[in-house]
Amino acid sequence: MKLKNIIEEATLLLSSVIEDKAEVKSNIFFMLSYLLNKSISELKINLDLNISKEKEKTFENWLKRRLNFEPVQYITKETEFYGIPIKLDNKVLIPRKETETLVDEVLKEIKKSKTYKVLDLACGTGCIGIAILKNTVKTNLDFSDFYSAPIKITKENLKSLNLESRSKVIKSDMFKNIETKYDIIVSNPPYIKKSEFKILSLDIINFEPKNALIGGSDGLEFYKKIATNAFKYLKEKGKIFLEIGYNQESEVFKIFKNKNWKDINIIKDLSNNPRILIAKTPYSL
Ligand code: GLN
Repeated sequence: MKLKNIIEEATLLLSSVIEDKAEVKSNIFFMLSYLLNKSISELKINLDLNISKEKEKTFENWLKRRLNFEPVQYITKETEFYGIPIKLDNKVLIPRKETETLVDEVLKEIKKSKTYKVLDLACGTGCIGIAILKNTVKTNLDFSDFYSAPIKITKENLKSLNLESRSKVIKSDMFKNIETKYDIIVSNPPYIKKSEFKILSLDIINFEPKNALIGGSDGLEFYKKIATNAFKYLKEKGKIFLEIGYNQESEVFKIFKNKNWKDINIIKDLSNNPRILIAKTPYSL
């Protein structure tokens, strides 16, 4: 069958469960680009391409999974974050577009001439730290997570991107096994309220790991732990960079203010939602 016919059929099928036409289209092209090992723009100019029976079968199977609400990234087992290929499975959170703003902010802080030691806390796929490593030359990055699955995936990603030499992966319950002081701690911790989890989309509820999303009953559990402990793991002029929920600006600000963090700043993401908190340690001069 020709690519254009496959796209037509897939569009009909997916439109029965996904309302947003742009999402249907992007889902189809996303999956096809991994299936055929071609970029989306290549696919768009090669609509007459003949697709083998075998690939057709695989794609049919992928569509069935998507019809059942499985996110495309778990189906292809790979996604892109900050323009970098990231492997993943359903035991880790799917990297989100808004998290790229967190990376932007850390990269603005890093001066080319200096060496930085950075911790990516609750690393999941490792996407944040990997994007920082890829875009700097002298940075050393430690990754940590409480669970074994993200530890394994982060190691795999570092290996396939050839970034092992400047990194270390540490299994740790928050700061428990952290022994060094850092210039920068960056984290996208779980921040959804327990009661709000069930109103998220089926893609998330049925497939993404709950533990990577829920931040206790008020969604703030990890911010409280970080505000209380992170300064012990930061150098004198160290800074923290955190992703927050779009509606958590004032609550998270207060948590850090009450623990005497300095120069607290909230940055908006590309959708104009408050998304990143930056602060200096309570002891910075
Ligand atoms: N740091 C990872 C990410 O941003 C995982 C975050 C998490 O598990 N909460 O995708």
